[in-house]
Amino acid sequence: MNFSRRTLTLAATAATLTLGFGTVSAQSYPSKPISLVVPFAAGGPTDIVARTLAATMTKSLGQSVVVENKAGAGGTIAANYVMKAPADGYTFLIHHNGMATAPALYRKLAYNPINDFEHVGNVVDVPMTLLARKDMAAKNLGELVSHIKANGDKVNLANAGLGAVSHLCGTLFQQSIGVSLTTVPFQGTGPALNALLGGQVDLLCDQTTSTTPHIKAGTVKFYGVTTKQRIKALPDAPTLHEGGMRDFEVIVWHGVYAPKGTPAAVMQKIGDAMRTALKDPAFVSRMAELGGEIPPAVRQTSDGQRAWLVAETDKWGKAIRTAGVFAD
Ligand code: ASP
Repeated sequence: MNFSRRTLTLAATAATLTLGFGTVSAQSYPSKPISLVVPFAAGGPTDIVARTLAATMTKSLGQSVVVENKAGAGGTIAANYVMKAPADGYTFLIHHNGMATAPALYRKLAYNPINDFEHVGNVVDVPMTLLARKDMAAKNLGELVSHIKANGDKVNLANAGLGAVSHLCGTLFQQSIGVSLTTVPFQGTGPALNALLGGQVDLLCDQTTSTTPHIKAGTVKFYGVTTKQRIKALPDAPTLHEGGMRDFEVIVWHGVYAPKGTPAAVMQKIGDAMRTALKDPAFVSRMAELGGEIPPAVRQTSDGQRAWLVAETDKWGKAIRTAGVFAD
């Protein structure tokens, strides 16, 4: 195949321009505020993590990272929105285990969490806590289980919709004690926790990100942490495991995602800014005081998050199919 000299010259010029433009846009990125989409209502644990991360990344990026709450359908509305957003580096999603559970819960899910996104990296791992409204008589997990078994039809359980980790934790809890409770869905566990504090709902399984201050202040009844070992943020708090719920473990991990096709140079810049934030002493200590732990470095990478999501999708898919829970 022989090209005329002119064709080759034109092609070379076009390539230089493309490369040049591409390089210039990568060098000037970000040139405007970046949106970090949170799939739940403001004030909940995902929102708290997102706003702390956004403020810290703003420092290293020199451009505002702005949190945008898009709640609904257990986080799937926001994930679908980000999947369809322009792949230009100005829209990202922060989400948790819901990216692993949605394929099993939603048989008509509009996206594939593993293949329809670019993966930035994991941010923080957070335990959950089983709570009741303050005037619940049960003083410990054993008494709570007895109360529920005797009054199951009168006890309700709040969550943030199918796909939320409060729904996952609540499902596993009901399964482990062999009862089926009335569930009360909210747009996030921010509003759900407010309803619990107001005595409008009876039970809630929520992340320590939100619940640690209330457990310390005694404004809720507390029955256990969903980790095998006690946590530093609540050293005197028993685990559900200690209370007899063997193998009850739910740890909420958080990942950051971009629309498929986001340029590699942009992904590198955002990934570097995120990993810098995860080393920021103020970010680390804030997460620690709320029960959070920074994940291992491997999970803070694109490949590491993808591999983690594949493993978690397999793990939670099995648990959900066993529970026989479907959203659609
Ligand atoms: N993490 C969600 C929120 O921030 C709640 C959940 O998934 O249960 O509202």
